[in-house]
Amino acid sequence: EAYLVKLREQEPHVRSFLHVSEKALQDAQELDRRVAEGREIGPLAGVPLGVKDNLCTRDMPSTGGSRILQGYYPPYDATAVAKLRSSGAILVGKTNMDEFGMGSSTEGSAYQVTANPWDLSRVPGGSSGGSAAAVAAGQCAGALGSDTGGSIRQPASFCGVVGLKPSYGRVSRFGLMAYASSLDVVGCFGNSVMDAAILLEAIAGADKNDSTCSPQDVPDYTSNLLPIDDLGSKPLAGIRFGIISETIADGVVEDVLSAVKQAVTHLESLGASVREVAMPNFSLGLPAYYVLATSEASSNLARYDGVRYGPRAHGEEVMSMYANSRALGFGPEVKRRILMGTYALSAGYYDAFYKKAQQVRTVIQQDFKNALEEVDLLISPVTPTAAYKIGEKVNDPLAMYVGDLMTVNVNLAGLPALVVPCGLAKGGTSGLPVGLQMIGPAFREESILRPGHIFE
Ligand code: GLN
Repeated sequence: EAYLVKLREQEPHVRSFLHVSEKALQDAQELDRRVAEGREIGPLAGVPLGVKDNLCTRDMPSTGGSRILQGYYPPYDATAVAKLRSSGAILVGKTNMDEFGMGSSTEGSAYQVTANPWDLSRVPGGSSGGSAAAVAAGQCAGALGSDTGGSIRQPASFCGVVGLKPSYGRVSRFGLMAYASSLDVVGCFGNSVMDAAILLEAIAGADKNDSTCSPQDVPDYTSNLLPIDDLGSKPLAGIRFGIISETIADGVVEDVLSAVKQAVTHLESLGASVREVAMPNFSLGLPAYYVLATSEASSNLARYDGVRYGPRAHGEEVMSMYANSRALGFGPEVKRRILMGTYALSAGYYDAFYKKAQQVRTVIQQDFKNALEEVDLLISPVTPTAAYKIGEKVNDPLAMYVGDLMTVNVNLAGLPALVVPCGLAKGGTSGLPVGLQMIGPAFREESILRPGHIFE
């Protein structure tokens, strides 16, 4: 009840939700009945959570932020959603997002613009901006998001909450609307690293409905966190951190750099060693990402044709019906990406773009592997600036893409990464949050959660 009150009170200002559940309280009462009957209620019993709108929910519309799925009720729950329900969580609603995850500010939603709770004139980041803003505004205790190139980490950084992008294949993608299938990951937001660890534990693990989801056992993430009440004993002694040189170079604003440097000092004071690690190919990741992500998107989005889901436009014959449905249903950024991806994959250009981008992807993967042999964990800023003003970049797609420089490579390599708030930049009335990104080896989420826990 308290969360629903807060949700309704904040919603007119923040606009994080595309849909608010009508049966959240009923679900909670059902848990009460189970308790009264002495039945199991699960580790997340009664915890109110938000779910990004590109995850299928059978009792709430799932639009992916797109007009082309307006009013669509999926006949099934995404696996991550089903796992939350069976853990007892209460799903309070579906959160706003850039259409199909394509964007970095949530201004690309077909429905509404979400505001950053720290300063309502600024963006919450994206594409999971609704989830990040909802947690930051206290509208729910945690939320699910998805991360193809930074969509959990960048909004977590902009909104001052914890964001966790798991390794590719750690969490099932079944029921996640596909953007770029080789990069997409379901992950979570929380107010603390402990909360993120609890959520990951609930959603991770093998799934017969997703053959790319790993059968590896899910470790106990929560009991391995460092005790934050006893930091006197240099708990990070022996952990080697590497700060990626290319992410603290030109183009990153001073405020962000100084917050990250402060975090480095904090790590060192707790016994860790921190040194710079050069990754000379780092800047090649961004163009490779935009070729690969748009190529995969152009193929994945072919399914929205006005026949199977969502509103259908009129057409004299079937081809014009498809074309009209897509013309009306997709927004400008999605169309731009379908065009880019179709171009990159077209005959005669394949070797020059798609194949080259795949080769770059291999180089980036190798560079991470080498770096993670020299140090245990990598760190970097998350974005070159703190949250910017609504409208500032919306008409300049390239400026928006450049903001993804520090996050996309992690997806190209399939690694886990955690974002924790580490300081404030100037702006707003009480400053603007800055996040620190910690990157670990594949399927070693515990290696970033454990030290990340000291940042709270
Ligand atoms: N901003 C990036 C993009 O637009 C990443 C989005 C995401 O991770 N879904 O592709």
